Amino acid sequence: MANYFDLTHQDRDYLQRCVQLAKEALDDGDEPFGSLLVSAEDEVLFSDRNRVSDGDRTRHPEFAIARWAAEHLTEEQRASAVVYTSGEHCPMCAAAHAWVGLGRIVYATSSEQLSAWHQQWGIEARPVATLPINAVAPGVHTAGPDTALAEQVRQLHLQLHGIEQQ
Ligand SMILES: [Zn+2]
Repeated sequence: MANYFDLTHQDRDYLQRCVQLAKEALDDGDEPFGSLLVSAEDEVLFSDRNRVSDGDRTRHPEFAIARWAAEHLTEEQRASAVVYTSGEHCPMCAAAHAWVGLGRIVYATSSEQLSAWHQQWGIEARPVATLPINAVAPGVHTAGPDTALAEQVRQLHLQLHGIEQQ
């Protein structure tokens, strides 16, 4: 089960890069989410950030990773690859991750945290239910959130919604 004590220093380094990608997305007028796909040999194979500002609300980085992995990696490579992400996968991305057979997921913030922030800030509910990854993809090993990184992500989301820093 998810537990931030599972995170290693290296996990945190990768997650910090995801938060940086999320910041780049925000700076570019998009929602602050960023993700990396890392091979078993510790090579960053693919990275992306949210690209929903053009109107296609499915353009989440975790979904892009699943599609890229299906096209470019063998079944064995996919199973041993790890996805790092600034925010826990939504149900769409968790399903895509499981369908293509990717390995572990490590996230900086949980969907539960994001949902709690939205509630606290009076942000309207999203069209897709908030579920933990394992409610959608029970076989996927997950780790997260990380307290310090989650605070960085929270600040990006405050900025997204134009809310004064709290
Ligand atoms: Zn998603």
